[in-house]
Amino acid sequence: MADDGKTLDPALAARIADNFAAVRRRIAEAAAEAGRDPSAIGLVAVSKLQPPERIEAALATGHRLFGENRVQEATGRWPALKQRYPDVALHLIGPLQTNKVKEAVALFDAIETVDRPRLARHLAAEMARSGRRPDCLIQVNTGEEPQKAGVAPDGLGDLLALCRDALGLPVRGLMCIPPQDENPALHFALLAELAARSGLEVVSMGMSGDFETAIRHGATLVRVGTALFGERPPRP
Ligand SMILES: *Cc1c(COP(=O)(O)O)cnc(C)c1O
Repeated sequence: MADDGKTLDPALAARIADNFAAVRRRIAEAAAEAGRDPSAIGLVAVSKLQPPERIEAALATGHRLFGENRVQEATGRWPALKQRYPDVALHLIGPLQTNKVKEAVALFDAIETVDRPRLARHLAAEMARSGRRPDCLIQVNTGEEPQKAGVAPDGLGDLLALCRDALGLPVRGLMCIPPQDENPALHFALLAELAARSGLEVVSMGMSGDFETAIRHGATLVRVGTALFGERPPRP
């Protein structure tokens, strides 16, 4: 028998269910304060590094939208889970190397981290080859941090033109990860403004520590890990 017969530790299941309910409540409150419809805000449950039983517990609550930041790690566990839960949607929220594009297009339903022409060209070629067309978001390096992925705000126009117009990628929106030591609100406001100006609907921003701020500034996707699953074990 497959591992779908595995029973969940009831205490763990209850704890994760409580966390999901609490985060949903906070999303609803932040949306209400901003005069926004809470159903317009998607919750990407970031499961990177989390033990499998916590993911099982999240699935048991009915949650179906997840995010992973490494192709390799996601490929190790999500194909089996997707077989059992065909309505799962999986977002790639970490950097994508061109040599992983084939696997990424096969597994993910959205790639939130398109950030350079070479990657865009590889994605377009693989989508044409495979017929799979995961949604694409362009990652913007709003803080212009040299070590961080993402296109600089003043390079967005050119990259978007390449992705959307020249390559025909299904670009739906923008994503950012603000600098750790700055007020995220300014970065969220900038990303929302760039998306509006570009005619893009999806705005992916906000994590456990700041998703309410992100919602006030127009996030349509928040990416939340530790507030849902608890602390992550360190990367081995
Ligand atoms: C890990 C991660 C998150 C979730 O972070 P938490 O602080 O655990 O909520 C969100 N976005 C990205 C890109 C991440 O890598």
